[in-house]
Amino acid sequence: MPLFIRGETMMTQLRIALPDGSAREVPAGSTPLDIARSIGENLARQAVAARVDGQLVDLDTRLEQDARLELVTLNSAEGLEVYRHSTAHLMAHAVKELYGDQVQVTIGPAIENGFYYDFYSPDHSFTPEDFAAIEKKMEELAAADLPIRREELSRDSAIARFRDMGETFKVKLIEDLPNATVSLYRQGEFIDLCRGPHLPSTGRIKAFKLTSVAGAYWRGDEKNPMLQRLYATAFADKKELKAYLARLEEAKKRDHRKLGRELDLFSFSEEAGAGLVIWHPKGALLRTLLEDFERREHLRRGYDIVMGPQILRTELWKTSGHYENYRENMYFTEVDEQSYGIKPMNCLAHMLIYKSQMRSYRDLPLRFFELGTVHRHEKSGVLHGLLRVRGFTQDDAHILCTPEQLDGEIKGVLGFVRDVMAIFGFEYEMEISTRPEKSIGSDADWARATQALMSALQDSGLPFEVNEGDGAFYGPKIDIKLKDALDRKWQCATIQCDFTLPERFDLTYVGSDGEKHRPVMVHRVILGAIERFIGVLIEHFAGNFPLWISPVQAVVVNVTDNQAEYAEQVYQILREEGIRVQKDLRNEKLGFKIREAQMEKVPYMLVVGDKEMTGGTVAPRHRSGRNLDPMSPAEFVRFVQDECRQYH
Ligand SMILES: [Zn+2]
Ligand SMILES: [Zn+2]
Repeated sequence: MPLFIRGETMMTQLRIALPDGSAREVPAGSTPLDIARSIGENLARQAVAARVDGQLVDLDTRLEQDARLELVTLNSAEGLEVYRHSTAHLMAHAVKELYGDQVQVTIGPAIENGFYYDFYSPDHSFTPEDFAAIEKKMEELAAADLPIRREELSRDSAIARFRDMGETFKVKLIEDLPNATVSLYRQGEFIDLCRGPHLPSTGRIKAFKLTSVAGAYWRGDEKNPMLQRLYATAFADKKELKAYLARLEEAKKRDHRKLGRELDLFSFSEEAGAGLVIWHPKGALLRTLLEDFERREHLRRGYDIVMGPQILRTELWKTSGHYENYRENMYFTEVDEQSYGIKPMNCLAHMLIYKSQMRSYRDLPLRFFELGTVHRHEKSGVLHGLLRVRGFTQDDAHILCTPEQLDGEIKGVLGFVRDVMAIFGFEYEMEISTRPEKSIGSDADWARATQALMSALQDSGLPFEVNEGDGAFYGPKIDIKLKDALDRKWQCATIQCDFTLPERFDLTYVGSDGEKHRPVMVHRVILGAIERFIGVLIEHFAGNFPLWISPVQAVVVNVTDNQAEYAEQVYQILREEGIRVQKDLRNEKLGFKIREAQMEKVPYMLVVGDKEMTGGTVAPRHRSGRNLDPMSPAEFVRFVQDECRQYH
């Protein structure tokens, strides 16, 4: 007994500080996993890695000095990334077991919602038919619960080791590393070059699925060999994986590019140019309805509608600083030997409107609103349906006010966002970005603007994130992301304070003291780009637009030719009353016509048979299958108007 105590006291004791403020005394050489176990078995099971003095490490790392320790669990994004990257190793291990020397391994990072691994495999083209066998092998390797061990060795021995294995891409990777030593991770026979950290063993991996395969050049360079990229995903358990796969399936069904074609809303044409939307009648009507809604809402909130030209002289873009900072994203043209820039933003004309007369503090705030169409050069690789385009229209406004008015103005914009998001049924998240290291504007400017944004956020009663130092150099901003029906986040509104443009354009107003002052300027959008917002709306509603923005609200359908004339009358009445109505008087079976209208996601089908004709009514049937009581065409008009009224 005394001997035992003596032995223990001889060991160095470490003081390990935990995030809750407590600390533990442990013998030197203890691992984060030991400490997790001493706290609780549950935590030990949940932990996937650890942060020691801020550095991410494996759970079996031996601690040799006092440290701050934070256990990283699967509940965090960081933990999930470790888990997914370990699953990437598992996939590479399985592929090597199955295909041996036919394939070489390269890299396999975690990405959003999963991971991929790039293989060099000139003799075997991977197809989805291979996925089941790879998944089966992965399951076997996971069931074997192989320990995953870190090894460190010199750069030269690592190069020799991978050269022996015939892994030439790994050799190239190590050759490009500046480090004198590199780390490898081994599980069973499989070794991979890796910084880590990794799960303690393969048995910790519980749920994964290969999702697709694509070509990718080594290091993203088309002069390099073509690799095959296997995409996959992994989750903590089978239930979460299943829910994710179901969401993925649903997202495919709702893809706005697919629905845009099926509902005949818009198209893109290589002949016209990439990233340029062509709106078809129904899509153009949908967009017009949204724009009318925006105009009404802005007028109601004290904005003035303005319109600027599509091209402005390059000199003016130099004054604004866009030429200097944003030229690569702009298109230019020439008129009468003068250079013009096609506007990528709407601010400039609004500055000129402000400057067109002397402004007094009594004129402020001024809120200039424009549905401004802009063009920006986006790389062709990032273009994506309506979500990323080269020409788009923003619901853009510039607010010019006195410093004292800023607070109220920001609150007004946030209230605007809240009302509009409620109308579409979107939840949203907000974040504020504050002063970066390099910035212009006085301390007082920054303090006032940041305070105005903060206090509006606090007033909203909703949680928000603070991104310290992440603001633009010319002012702090609020970004708002909406969440759609599939829980995906989309940037919509932004509220950006700007200290440069009022300076560059020398904007002033005469204050109550009779002196000249600089107004404060705010750029803001609510929906953002209308194109993108419509893309999001299509996916959010799966094409089932609410009645008030449905490009077609009702379709009149006759049962037999007998009612064709009456159906035509009904159609005329509704159209004259402003209902967006179509007619289907073809000599087809009723069931067929109803199915077709349902495919087009028309909210109401108005069925007219002999009974309706005699009674002077229509029988409305909702696209969900619900039938309403027969009513006269006039009653249906009122019914539609009532349902849409709250948005008008
Ligand atoms: Zn790794
Ligand atoms: Zn602007």
